[in-house]
Amino acid sequence: MSRTTQPILEVDGLKKYYETGGSFVDSLLGRSNTVKAVDGVDLTLQPGETLGVVGESGCGKTTLGRALLRLIEPTEGSVTSRQRNDDGTVDELDLTELSSSRLRDLRTDLQYIFQDPFSSLNPRMTVGDIVGEPLDIHNIASGEERTQRVEELLDTVGLNRSHAYRYPHEFSGGQRQRIGIARALAVDPEVIICDEPVSALDVSVQAQILNLLSNLQEEFDLSYIFIAHDLSVVEHISDRVAVMYLGEIAEVGTTDELFTAPRHPYTEALLSVIPEPDPGWEGNKILLDGEVPSAINPPSGCRFHTRCHRVIPPEDLSIEQETFRSVLTLKLYARQAESTTELVTLGGTGQLQEEYDETDPVAVDRVIRDTYEIPSQLPDTTAEETVSTSIERLVEAEPPAAAEKLDEVFVSPCEKQRPELEQTAETQVSCLLYTDEYNTGQPVVTDQTGDAAADD
Ligand code: SF4
Repeated sequence: MSRTTQPILEVDGLKKYYETGGSFVDSLLGRSNTVKAVDGVDLTLQPGETLGVVGESGCGKTTLGRALLRLIEPTEGSVTSRQRNDDGTVDELDLTELSSSRLRDLRTDLQYIFQDPFSSLNPRMTVGDIVGEPLDIHNIASGEERTQRVEELLDTVGLNRSHAYRYPHEFSGGQRQRIGIARALAVDPEVIICDEPVSALDVSVQAQILNLLSNLQEEFDLSYIFIAHDLSVVEHISDRVAVMYLGEIAEVGTTDELFTAPRHPYTEALLSVIPEPDPGWEGNKILLDGEVPSAINPPSGCRFHTRCHRVIPPEDLSIEQETFRSVLTLKLYARQAESTTELVTLGGTGQLQEEYDETDPVAVDRVIRDTYEIPSQLPDTTAEETVSTSIERLVEAEPPAAAEKLDEVFVSPCEKQRPELEQTAETQVSCLLYTDEYNTGQPVVTDQTGDAAADD
């Protein structure tokens, strides 16, 4: 035990890998794959704070939340929980090392609110029993004392005491989420992981639940990890925000800093598409190409390089950054396309916009350059020769050979180097643009208005 003002929860190098194709025959044939759902996450949660965790669907945020409390077993890493005692001392425990019985005892301090209020409540139990169950499991209260505690908890979350005798199906989505919150509060926890707690609810009900969570935090001195895909919700409730991409942390900072001046290109893109109250507002929307890649075989180097609008061109190529991005996209799509027409549809709207002769070099050159927004003539001779040769290979219907040609010249440092989470003056960011090697001194930062501003 020691006296400390350290984080109440500290996550270090947390990983959660899954094996797919796990049958005996799969393993004989070497067909199993590793899904790197969470891949080396470091985070801290301070006492009394709300840390938002955001990212697109499939980024690993729910897996992270569950691995933190060992609802699923992490593959590697540590989760240090610091429990405050009444005398001011602190017990420090690594959750990943605890036996299941010790972990169950500790669950009175660490609770989880599930995403779906419709499936997370046992339909055969009364609300009183759902909320009272943790009191039974942890021998906290029984008999009259239990009944009283359940009624108090229902009061606390804005439900009626009479609701204790009813069943979950008799309640609306918002009311069910209140039941889930009451259940989490029953054991008087210090930390609650809220996993998309409002995403299944109507907007008006969302605001009520968010306000309830804020009030409860103040009243009971709670610390939250708040997982969500909706940035407006996260902005509303969080003190700090961690942005996740493909199992890794891209950026962490205070909500103000991160929403005013995002550093990481992924954060920048996410914020640029938050709907504005003004329907006529166009702003500088950054529309990312494609979907989040598979966590089975994540991209090399920076995992975001396949979609990043700021991807770094190689030093020895004299080319506009935007043009480099276009050629890189052509290269990445050519690796997976089975025909030139497929390559055209992949890079376009998903449908062939015009018929063209796949054997005509001039037609193929025009269609490919139009589709991928590559100028008809690149100023750099090597770059132009490489693109022209690769397009010739497309006329021969060999997209992978075209990709190979482009790979001789069009290789970004972002494909080769995996950035670490670096501390900048404002946020922690995992992007080569903020390292000494590639930082020009004034990386472009976009403020909320969509205007570019110099970072100082
Ligand atoms: S390292 Fe490169 S690809 Fe990754 S976010 Fe930074 S600029 Fe984009």
